[in-house]
Amino acid sequence: MDVRALIREEVLAQAAYPVVTTPYRIKLDANENPLAIPQELRERFAALLDSVPLNRYPEAGSVTLASRFAERFGVGADQVLMGNGSDDLIQILCQALARPGASVMIPVPTFVMYRIIALNLGFRVAAVPLDKDFDLDLPAMQEQMATHPPALTFLAWPNNPTGNCFSRERIDAILKGASGIVVVDEAYCHFAEKTFLTDLDRHENLVIFRTLSKVGLAAMRIGLLIGPPALIHELHKVRLPYNLNALSQAAAGFYLDEEAAFLKQAAEIRRWRGELFLALDALPGIHPRPTEANFIFFSCDFDPDRVYSQLVDRGILIRNLSAPGMMKGYMRVTVGTRQENQEFVEALKDIIQK
Ligand SMILES: *Cc1c(COP(=O)(O)O)cnc(C)c1O
Repeated sequence: MDVRALIREEVLAQAAYPVVTTPYRIKLDANENPLAIPQELRERFAALLDSVPLNRYPEAGSVTLASRFAERFGVGADQVLMGNGSDDLIQILCQALARPGASVMIPVPTFVMYRIIALNLGFRVAAVPLDKDFDLDLPAMQEQMATHPPALTFLAWPNNPTGNCFSRERIDAILKGASGIVVVDEAYCHFAEKTFLTDLDRHENLVIFRTLSKVGLAAMRIGLLIGPPALIHELHKVRLPYNLNALSQAAAGFYLDEEAAFLKQAAEIRRWRGELFLALDALPGIHPRPTEANFIFFSCDFDPDRVYSQLVDRGILIRNLSAPGMMKGYMRVTVGTRQENQEFVEALKDIIQK
């Protein structure tokens, strides 16, 4: 029997999510916080995890946690849904909206999971290229909304991998013109320090995503969806009963208890980002783009495959995004510690001089 004959075409047509298996010393490819939990908090964190009863199921729906976050965000307790990372929330939202023939609109380039999950659930994906400044191409998106109204639109703000925040006016226009849900994914809000939270009252179709992955807890898989109560009510029927495990729930509570310490790290990363930007900008043939995230999107005038592989040879991992068209020569590097950033810049300098 050929099992592939049983698998849906949308799944067969995809490549598996690429995971790099090369050994590395310095990991600047996944937009993680380079710092561990602050030393003075580690014992408390360990004790907290140790107190979790592993023989019991976690609290279903993470409702206690959701209401704590709601308070922090200044929204109702019935407006927050917790997920096993944002990936889980993308999937839950897509599952709830995946009517036959429905479409998802995304700008490109953007976070790849929107496309992968939408395709897996049978959506058509309308990918609208960003304009030359990597901002939203509003006329093209409006045209799409007029001809094939999407059930769902995903806007990462700041955008991954380009690092910029799309202009607020254009997002506003999409929110006003859309007949479907519009997600503003604020995965990098700790580095951009701006939000659409205060716009929730004005738009019934606005949904905001947050995650603790970029601010220091990537391993714990904690995502948040903030939206209208009527939508959250339906999404609770779609999520798996125990989508957030008990250790993750405890870790998310710990984050709330100690948020100041995490925000202090984010502030430090923002300073290192400024230094890294200046160092890259000073290299001939390297052109960093303005960024509001914890990574820098840059183009290089050299063969990007050579630059990438020689960085890997030196144990430094970044993301090579170069492809024909608007992405030609582009790469993305996560802001690491000051030491890691310096080593990366030194290596890059050496490579491009050869
Ligand atoms: C990294 C990232 C996320 C985080 O996903 P998790 O599943 O929460 O780790 C979400 N959205 C965007 C745009 C990202 O770049």
